[in-house]
Amino acid sequence: MKYDDILSEALDRPITREEALLLFQESQKPVKYLRLFQTASIVREKECGKLFRLDGWMGNNSRCKVDPPCRYCRRAIPGQEMEKWEFGEDRVRKIAQAFKMTGTTTVEIGGGTDPDEAGSNVLKILKILREESLNVWVNVGPALDEGHIQEMKNLQVEAITSSFETMNPRVFQEIKPGDSLEKRIALANLIDQNAVPLISVLMVGLGESYQDRVDHLFYLNDLKHFYQLAVSWLRIFSGSPLESRIVPPTPIEAARTVAIARLIIRDKYINVSDPQQIQLWTMAGANRMVHAGASYHKRGGFSIGGNWVHPGIEHIDLGEGFEISSLLPITSRYIENAGMSVEPSIKDATDAFWRMKMTS
Ligand code: SF4
Repeated sequence: MKYDDILSEALDRPITREEALLLFQESQKPVKYLRLFQTASIVREKECGKLFRLDGWMGNNSRCKVDPPCRYCRRAIPGQEMEKWEFGEDRVRKIAQAFKMTGTTTVEIGGGTDPDEAGSNVLKILKILREESLNVWVNVGPALDEGHIQEMKNLQVEAITSSFETMNPRVFQEIKPGDSLEKRIALANLIDQNAVPLISVLMVGLGESYQDRVDHLFYLNDLKHFYQLAVSWLRIFSGSPLESRIVPPTPIEAARTVAIARLIIRDKYINVSDPQQIQLWTMAGANRMVHAGASYHKRGGFSIGGNWVHPGIEHIDLGEGFEISSLLPITSRYIENAGMSVEPSIKDATDAFWRMKMTS
């Protein structure tokens, strides 16, 4: 089948493995990927509507015990440690209030892979955030057992994450030598068997083939409770073991993967995490982001969302050197300019932010 015929068929039905592979192989030139993005946008609107969700982030709930660290991780840079932030009940309630002031409805609780502590730490925070009427999804690597999953389900967690990054065992071993693909797959299946919505990440540019990406996407899509795909792309920090050893992909490579994924997984969320490329993600068929909304951070510290300097960033001081920094006044405008909509509470809060800016 020809490239344009596949795109035309994809408007009405999911593409096959063979068609997905052909789209990866033939969509490298702008004239081709622009048609792919257009098709993915039409399919997103038809299957999911216009809503684009911008989630909050509250990380560092546990240290990562993966040893040696993944070679792309900041932990792999000599002298870099992953901090663990402490959260008592009052602190969590204060953070929840600040999230709600930004209009945020949903928060990712993230942390490193620590089988001893991650599950219990997350459960304490999850319970309080649910009492504060926030939706929550969890991402702490393969550190959870079935008891944790069931408790989270009882607390109505929106979803639990088990990311593979790549399902090519050789590439996984090279890039994540201290981690276990088997454990990550087992956790994904455990989440699925417990009928909890599953989130999983595909990282583009680790050295995987197009066939690997196709197999990965179809594996996830075949899981009954697969709920959200996150697409990330390899970025190399200065001083990390991958510096000068691997050419990182361009954001277009991630966007092509988002668009082809949209033609496979159709009505599920597709999440990408770099706010500086937000127009590209909306063009390619994504409908959700984290690190493009409100995030809990150390003031002046590292931010996964990038350290933007912009008058549209809202800072809510939470004391003890921490703040919520919200990109929502900017990113919600980008979403609306792309013809999509944000959640009503975010719209109300960001409109109020800009009104206040105009009069101050
Ligand atoms: S599991 Fe995550 S936090 Fe831990 S080393 Fe790998 S990338 Fe870093």
